Amino acid sequence: REAELKGSAEADRKRRAAAVIEEVERSLSTPTALLRSIADAMVSEMERGLRGDIHSQLKMLISYVDNLPTGDEHGLYYALDLGGTNFRVLRVQLGGREKRVVKQQYEEVSIPPHLMVGSSMELFDFIAAALAKFVDTEGEDFHLPEGRQRELGFTFSFPVNQTSISSGTLIKWTKGFSVNGTVGADVVSELSKAMERQGLDMKVTALVNDTVGTLAGGRYLDNDVVAAVILGTGTNAAYVEHANAIPKWTGLLPKSGNMVINTEWGSFKSDKLPLSEYDKAMDFESLNPGEQIYEKMISGMYLGEIVRRILLKLAHDASLFGDVVPSKLEQPFVLRTPDMSAMHHDSSHDLKILGAKLKDIVGVADTSLEVRYITRHICDLVAERGARLAAAGIYSILKKIGRDKVPSNGSKMPRTVIALDGGLYEHYKKFSSCVETTLTDLLGEEASSSVVAKLANDGSGIGAALLAASHSQYADVD
Ligand code: BGC
Ligand code: MG
Repeated sequence: REAELKGSAEADRKRRAAAVIEEVERSLSTPTALLRSIADAMVSEMERGLRGDIHSQLKMLISYVDNLPTGDEHGLYYALDLGGTNFRVLRVQLGGREKRVVKQQYEEVSIPPHLMVGSSMELFDFIAAALAKFVDTEGEDFHLPEGRQRELGFTFSFPVNQTSISSGTLIKWTKGFSVNGTVGADVVSELSKAMERQGLDMKVTALVNDTVGTLAGGRYLDNDVVAAVILGTGTNAAYVEHANAIPKWTGLLPKSGNMVINTEWGSFKSDKLPLSEYDKAMDFESLNPGEQIYEKMISGMYLGEIVRRILLKLAHDASLFGDVVPSKLEQPFVLRTPDMSAMHHDSSHDLKILGAKLKDIVGVADTSLEVRYITRHICDLVAERGARLAAAGIYSILKKIGRDKVPSNGSKMPRTVIALDGGLYEHYKKFSSCVETTLTDLLGEEASSSVVAKLANDGSGIGAALLAASHSQYADVD
């Protein structure tokens, strides 16, 4: 009798788990036809953004970068990269066309969490202090001509309304940041004031988004780079647009005829996006509800959290981790994307690594093989949806610039390189390979043979330094 009862309770539990999983599969699914219609919707939002329609989902921010690095840049330049959980400072001695990067040094500093939600002045003081310390360690290998001021490229990985190549106001914070008093302020003047308070004599000559920096860094190494995509804590893309295809640009037509556009695609939102109850609840409880919806389905800050929410549902509805719901699992953001990646990549027969992670994170030892398989499957569903949506975004940019298919006049499609960076793309292999196969699928065999996705490891720092060089106050002197 008892065994019978136990058996039927077990069967019931399995049925309930299967029902939840089926619903998750349904709500996260991204058939190729859906991705195509999402890409089309993104293209029309890009066009609206370029027209200056204030209701457009994509801001299509003008970067004031109308020339990308050529290789001729030379001199000593600094860069500061603020964006994710770390910020880095960097200096590079550029040697011109022949010598290129003569020497480069950098340092990475993690941002104390309280500063990400504190006051603007505290955050900028912290950054400027770290920068001043770094400048103090400049050695003999770096050379600044007599009487010159040090110059800096500032990579600021948030949406900014640029007012020139070296100024711009913060539109809103994203990712884990919610600092008081910065929105609406000129971030270059905030940084400059903080540097002054540190007694650091340095001039910001370029303010760039990380996508724009990555595009510049990518172009320095490969002439065929036309766009850059970040898949990291957050997500975004920048690309080279024809200046005459930007109706809202009222300035002079740049000599190059081009202008780099920061799409801010993270804020894309559409009925077409496969938004589940888990996404909705996570968004509702986030620092920026209703915003960055596309980003919240794709990027590293959120993937692990979505998995956690699904596991929690399985714990509640189908006793996935036993009769009591583990309290650790109730804690937002305990399951980080790197842990999710480690679980997802476990291919051992008994999923040992995954089991150890569950013990660590959820606090449940001795999970059954079945529970481990279910967990891995959930990781797979969430990662695959994110990667496929990211591929749809890349495809939409290729469509926008007419590099999505072989020209109809029979000429060959030019080699087209996308520079990609960000921890998610770099470290989460199943994610990045899914981005690539999905992109190939969307492009078709012929066009995809001309498109290359290239890892631009930390291209945004060097890219910002290169743009600081080409916009140097001494550029005419040299
Ligand atoms: C920001 C972008 C940034 C991206 C990647 C997003 O949250 O809005 O400006 O490029 O993250 O760092
Ligand atoms: Mg970065």
